[in-house]
Amino acid sequence: MKVYILNNGWMEGDEKIISAMNAKNDPELKEDKPVSTKWERIPIYAVLIDHPQGKIVYDLGCHPESMKGYWPEHLTTITRYCSEPQHNFGHQLALAGTKPSEINTIVLSHFHPDHTGSLYLFPHADVYAPRKDFEYALSQVHLSADPAKHGPYVKATVEVPIKQYHLVDEDIELIPGVELINVPGHTSGLLGMVVHLEKEGTLIFPQDAVNDRKNYGPPAQAKGMLSDPEAYIQSIEKVRQLANKYNAKVMFPHDWEFFQTMKTAPDYYA
Ligand SMILES: [Zn+2]
Repeated sequence: MKVYILNNGWMEGDEKIISAMNAKNDPELKEDKPVSTKWERIPIYAVLIDHPQGKIVYDLGCHPESMKGYWPEHLTTITRYCSEPQHNFGHQLALAGTKPSEINTIVLSHFHPDHTGSLYLFPHADVYAPRKDFEYALSQVHLSADPAKHGPYVKATVEVPIKQYHLVDEDIELIPGVELINVPGHTSGLLGMVVHLEKEGTLIFPQDAVNDRKNYGPPAQAKGMLSDPEAYIQSIEKVRQLANKYNAKVMFPHDWEFFQTMKTAPDYYA
């Protein structure tokens, strides 16, 4: 089994929102007030697992047209998706020796637009997703016709037709050596992934359950706007317990400095 990190570019924005993508409830961040706190850059990446039983992609980065109308305006005014041609999703898959038609299984950690952007490339796929965030995202984009009221969800993404959704409530073994774990708090449902590799041991991808090393601590720190701050802290401790149990490496999703230490495609973990 090989694990490739697919570099999909980066996002920039106020550190308070970029860590949670949920600015609508923060009075400091309404349009008529300047964004005053620190501007931050975070990496956007996806994970390809090349497994003897098939290839799996975990999360799908940002849609290439995010800043050209695909994201509603309330998102592009508070944050910015940036990429260079080599960050294109198809190009990144090619660096790992594959293409969308060879990938029949997708796992989405949650439905925020920096994790689901290239879903449109996989209409043939079985998609595993956290039930609670799937249901919440669907309801958010339908409660109002006004995209500004959809929070951090993009209607077009939530409605991409795919072969079959598999909604996950419990921790499961997806295939031998690959587990999905429930780590809610950032959103009401969120799937992390644990991968047991032959040479390099266990890697834990908590995605936005643990944004960066500052959240992880110890002590664990709640950061940004969260669906459930208590669950968020419990999820970080769940990741820490697993990391101790397996002597695992925690792969932070949105930590710019940490990202510079990661192997990216065509390099891989094995
Ligand atoms: Zn994210």
